[in-house]
Order: sequence, then structure tokens, then C-alpha cells
Amino acid sequence: MLEQGHWQGEIWNKRKNGEIYPEWLSITAIRGENGDICQFAAIFSDISERKYQENKIHQLAYLDELTGLANRRMFLDRLKLALANAHRHQHQMAVLFLDLDLFKRINDTLGHQAGDEALKEVARRLQATVREGESVARLGGDEFTILLPEVEGIDSLGCLAKRLVSQFEQPFRLLEQDFFLTTSIGISVYPDDAQSADQLIKHADVAMYQAKNAGRNQFCFYQESVGQQTQNELKLEQALRQALQQQHLEVYYQPKVCLKTGAVTGLEALVRWQHHEHGFISPASFIPLAEKLGLISMLSDHVLTQVCRDIRHHQLKMPVAINISAMQLLDPTFSQRLQHQLHQFAISPKCIELELTESCLIPEQADATLTLLTHLRQQGFRISIDDFGTGYSSLSYLRRLPIDCLKIDRSFVDELPDNSEDAQIAQAIIAMAKALGLDVIAEGVEHPQQQDFLLAAGCSIAQGYLYAPALQIAELQNWLQHRQQLSNCACH
Ligand code: C2E
Ligand code: CA
Ligand code: CA
Repeated sequence: MLEQGHWQGEIWNKRKNGEIYPEWLSITAIRGENGDICQFAAIFSDISERKYQENKIHQLAYLDELTGLANRRMFLDRLKLALANAHRHQHQMAVLFLDLDLFKRINDTLGHQAGDEALKEVARRLQATVREGESVARLGGDEFTILLPEVEGIDSLGCLAKRLVSQFEQPFRLLEQDFFLTTSIGISVYPDDAQSADQLIKHADVAMYQAKNAGRNQFCFYQESVGQQTQNELKLEQALRQALQQQHLEVYYQPKVCLKTGAVTGLEALVRWQHHEHGFISPASFIPLAEKLGLISMLSDHVLTQVCRDIRHHQLKMPVAINISAMQLLDPTFSQRLQHQLHQFAISPKCIELELTESCLIPEQADATLTLLTHLRQQGFRISIDDFGTGYSSLSYLRRLPIDCLKIDRSFVDELPDNSEDAQIAQAIIAMAKALGLDVIAEGVEHPQQQDFLLAAGCSIAQGYLYAPALQIAELQNWLQHRQQLSNCACH
């Protein structure tokens, strides 16, 4: 200032009440007639408000409001910086991707406020576990990332991941109750697993899903082969969405046959997907995918519409069973949609049987399911329990359910009559069905010996390749006609 006659800058000043605050200060030297400095003039302004606003803007842009952790933007900035550094100095770095397991349950049962509290506590625990320089971020929802700008080998990464998982062993105190949360962690390492920021995150995400699939509450390193599998799943997902849109799924029908008379007592609708590239794709693989993607209700609507159309156009005279997946029963609009569709085609519920597996009978939903099924049965729908014997339904609950029929699972029919355990199980199911006044049907009957055993054991109906596989509607018509002719001949 003595040299230039002027200075300005930011200083900390103290108010009379002792509070420290930032000030912008400009000082100008005032010289007398002889040119010597005789005074200084200072102008200052309080910039605490501006500082506060700047800080706020920075926070909004770079910090997660709920937890105070870095947000996605800050995480990406830091990741890019760390990548450049790792590249320059030729060392490894890693991204950990964390997702809380079944977090939605906390939100759904305790409310969002408790969910927020849990997220804050998670943030605290994660922050306390990492070292200086390793940054924790919240990407959104219940997804967190940890950036390790420099790692000393895979072992130390595994140790950290283990410590992170164990941070969840202590319960979370929410609404004055203890709750347990767990997390699944995926890890990807530069330069082995990926070269770019996007790829590192994506691969850590893939690894996280692998940890979930392996049973949650654990960590997984990225593996290229699994990444490939996820790619395939993605392709399948695209294809399934397309197939649904373009109505490329077709319903086939498998007859159910009365063991005593040989008469056809009903049909089961089984959905088929003929993919133009991959060929036939089994419902056993795309139904679970449709459930996972939330497409199952749409798929089932599609199946039911086709069934209704076929019943109308081909004047099918017997009940048609459709398979209902557990997720559909949880859909509150299920019964309404069902009835709406039947109504559109003027079809009575008596023409439709609903096949539910034991997994549909979720204990937590027992009362709701009972109410729903009772309502449906009053409307005239027949209800049967599919794959019976493979689940864990309690017999007392089963007795209260308004059902018409038990389907003995194929796994017990396969080795009849030689496998004595299976024979006993089949006999027990048949006896039980009778005691409860239910019909019983055996599925997957392929050989006459199986048929003979079942008939002797008192089973009334069977279904399987011995009679017919699932058939296209035109094939089914032929099959039915042919069978009719046979039985006419037998009568004469
Ligand atoms: P599911 O309901 O237990 O159906 C019986 C499965 O056994 C069918 O396989 C059928 O083709 C097959 N099968 C029938 N007879 C025999 C036999 O004698 N031997 C052998 N080895 N297999 C036989 P598919 O059609 O591949 O269906 C598999 C599963 O996919 C079904 O099991 C069902 O759970 C599900 N599914 C099929 N269509 C639908 C649908 O429209 N909606 C829903 N939610 N699930 C469906
Ligand atoms: Ca079935
Ligand atoms: Ca079955």
C-alpha cells in the first residue's frame, strides 16, 4: 500500500458482540501537498450474506441435501479427477457402489420420515468407516458410492468392503424401535475393470446386482462374464417389451383329461414366445423376467384377452385355466381387471380357472388373499393350487381357502411308480384332497405306468405329454375332434 497507494481484499473482522464476519475492504492512501501519505481512507462492506448465498449455491449444486454427502455431480467431478491422477501416476483406483437391501420396506411400513432418518444414519456410518481422501456420495434414493482415489491391492479393498458391510450389524433406531438394514456392495477397479468414469460406475453397479443375487448383505468384485450376462438380460428385456407391444406372445392350450372316462375336462393356457432370432423362449425364464420388470400384469392381460377371444371364436366348451403369478395377486386392481376383460367378451367366470402356486399364499398377506379369493370364487371362478407339494403352505390355512383343486407337482409324478417316496407323497396329496373335498389333478404324466398308478391311487384328472403337449388353438381343435371320433368309435 505504501508503494502503490491502494489495497483491497477480504478480511475477517469482529463485531462489537464478538462475532467474526467476512468483510470486503478497500484502502486508499491520501497524500498531502508534499506528496507524503497523510491519511488512509477505508471503505468496507459486510459480505457475510453474499458468502452465505455462495455457500448455499455450492451446497445445492454439489451436496446431497438430506445427508450432507457429496451428490452425483460432485462424485463425478471427483471421479474424473481421481481417474486422471491414477492414469498419470499409474496406480489403481476403485469405485464401490452400495445399495441398501429391501429399503423400500422401511419407507413403506414406517413412512418416508423414518426412511430419511435411516439414510442419514447410513451416511454417518459410511463416512465414519472410510479414510481421509476417500469420499462417500449419495447418488439418490438408497444408492451410495465410495470413491477410493488410490488403492493398494485387492485385499485391502476386500477388507474395506467387509468393514462397510459390518457397519450394518448394529440395528437402526427408528420411531423408537430397532430395525436391521443390510447393504449389497459392488466394486470395480481401474484400470482392470474399466477405463472411463461411466464404465467404472456401470460395472460397480453390475457387481452390486451380483451381490444382491448372491443373497444380499455382501460385496462382489466386478466380473466380466457376469457383465456379459447382464447385457444378455438387457437384450432379453428389450425383446420382451417389444414382444408385448407387438403382441408376439401366443397362448397354447394343454388338455386336462379325466382318468376314468378319458373325457377332456378342461384346458390350461400356457404362454409361448417364439423369438425371431433366439427361437423358442421358455415361459419358465421370461415369466420371472416379466415379474422383475413389472410387466407381469400387462402380460397376463394379454394372455387373458387371447383366452377370451379363443373361447368366443372357437366355442371352447370347457373351463380354461390361466396361471396367476404371486405378484399379480398383490396388484389391487387384479380382480377388477379380470372381471372387466371377461365382461368385454361376455364370458362367464365359470369358464375360467385360476391356477395359483403356493408362493402366491404369502403369510403376511394371508387375510388379504383369503378375502380376494373368496370374492373371486363367489363370482364363479374356479381356483386351484398349482405345483402343490413344493411350497410350505400351512394345512390349516389351506383348509380355510376357497379352492377347488390341488395340482400335484410334476416333480412327484416324474418317477412314479418306482420311486417309493414320490409314490407316498402323491398318495398322501390325493388322500388329503379327498378329505378336504377337493379335486386332484396330476401334471406331467408322460407314461401309461404313471397313469395307472394315479388312477389306482384315486386321482381323478391328469395332464401331460401322454395325452398332449400344449397346442396351438388350431392344433387343439384337430386334437379334440380326433379324440371325439375315437370315443364315438369306442361307444359303437
Ligand atoms: P406350470 O403352470 O406348472 O405349467 C406346466 C408346465 O409343464 C408347462 O411348461 C407345460 O408345458 C409342462 N408340461 C406339461 N406336460 C408335461 C409333461 O408331460 N412333461 C413335461 N416334462 N412337462 C410338461 P411351460 O409351458 O414351459 O410353463 C412353465 C411355467 O411357466 C408354468 O408352469 C407356469 O408357472 C408359467 N407360465 C406359463 N404360462 C404362463 C402364463 O400365462 N402366466 C403366468 N403367470 N405363468 C405362466
Ligand atoms: Ca399351471
Ligand atoms: Ca404346475
